[in-house]
Amino acid sequence: MQSDRNILLLSDGPGGTIGADLDILYPGRVKRLDVTSESCDAGVLSRYEFVITAVNDGCNLHKLDYGAVTAFAESGGQVISCLFEYARNRGMHFSKTHVQDRIRPGMRIEIENDVTRGYSLGDTLWWYGTVTSAPDQTYANQMFQRQILGLETTENVASLGISNLNGGAVMLEERVGDGRIVAMDLASPVRPWYNSWGSTNKYLFLGNIVNNAVRYGKHYPERLDYDGFVDLMFDTAERYPDLFLEDEGRSSDGRPMYSLNVGDESRPTMYFGAAIHGWEWENAYGLLRLAEVLCRNPNVEGLNTPNLHFKILPVQNPGGFDRFTRQNSRGVDLNRNFDCNWDGFHYTQDVRMPWDYNFMGAKAASERETRVIQGIIDEHRPLCVIDFHTADYIMMLPHKGDGELLAAIHADVRDRLKNRYLTQKPYGGTYQQVNMDRITEFRPPEPYCIAYAAERGTPAAFLIEMSGNRDNVHALVMNTDTVVEICLAAVKQCLLKGGSP
Ligand SMILES: [Zn+2]
Repeated sequence: MQSDRNILLLSDGPGGTIGADLDILYPGRVKRLDVTSESCDAGVLSRYEFVITAVNDGCNLHKLDYGAVTAFAESGGQVISCLFEYARNRGMHFSKTHVQDRIRPGMRIEIENDVTRGYSLGDTLWWYGTVTSAPDQTYANQMFQRQILGLETTENVASLGISNLNGGAVMLEERVGDGRIVAMDLASPVRPWYNSWGSTNKYLFLGNIVNNAVRYGKHYPERLDYDGFVDLMFDTAERYPDLFLEDEGRSSDGRPMYSLNVGDESRPTMYFGAAIHGWEWENAYGLLRLAEVLCRNPNVEGLNTPNLHFKILPVQNPGGFDRFTRQNSRGVDLNRNFDCNWDGFHYTQDVRMPWDYNFMGAKAASERETRVIQGIIDEHRPLCVIDFHTADYIMMLPHKGDGELLAAIHADVRDRLKNRYLTQKPYGGTYQQVNMDRITEFRPPEPYCIAYAAERGTPAAFLIEMSGNRDNVHALVMNTDTVVEICLAAVKQCLLKGGSP
């Protein structure tokens, strides 16, 4: 049964956007079959590991042989089915609920299992489509979601996610023989685009079944201000005795800048930071998640992490984090303020006045935040420094470092991110996998955090741009997952390169 092309998409037509999206997510793995003109009997299905059904037109329902689909599951197959055909074939009450634009339809997670990985019981994520071209304006901007109403759960049938509109099942699992059918509403959410609240996670649960999409990612229910985030850091540290917080000094608006610390300070240091541009906020959650991952399993992926020292500053710019600004509270772009070729760095505009986009500050390291970070680098001389930014997909190198090690980290990161998440390319319209395929050459020396570290001898300092700056928490599973993977790739390659430190 195992072959490269192991996913079969059954639909009443060429496969539509779901087909196109699956081809991007799982290149070479998807066979599309049009049930209106081709046979989908048991013999055909048995050649695949996963069967996905997506019937659009009710008139075509009878052309999908659901008996064969169920038999496929019975013999150990994994089926992902849109709600419509599942409900009709099981004699259940199918519903498509419209709401005017007051409530955003969401799905509340009811069970934590391999399908819902990334979410906890009770988490609610937005899940809906939108009417965009209604002839009557009363219906424009309406949102809708599909559910199965009055689902009777049994030993074999469980609701995985229910609607916040009416309690109907938006995603359910039926155990059938040696396999299962997971029915979910793939028809309401549109193609995931950059900031789409209703569809960002459209393929996440399907991905968990087909390709273990979520490995380390975690949903956080709320976008917190800095004080709230610090509380969350303290709460997390309370749960893990190996995790402790350190007050690294005051920010320019007088707040304590806390780091998360794991491991042995006498061992080589990995320094990871985020949100130096305050509005690039999501990666702070990724780094908090990393600390949790390291403490839950110190031997994660066999990397004996207690042999290292992790210093993690999730919010390098508390003022900007709170006010959703790039600059710190004094209008300085902190990542143009480091004491590395500060005098020699010339942009033609947007650098000289406070609140200019790239305002460099009055002099090198004029800002308290900059001095806090420089102080950490001076004291610990890290083996690796990663500065997490948003929003694009690229790994940027400083002016020097260990090129071989950086290339090895990049290759590992690329590998890890393959076939995991679908999104819209930042600043462009095309759909793509979440990836870190692009990498820069060594750049000229700049007053950047990573350049300061490279100048002080860090062999593996680099900057990550990944998708983010969203206006809410809807992409945090994907974002936190990506951050943790990148950090673990760096740890692994540093350990391989240096032997066991
Ligand atoms: Zn940035």
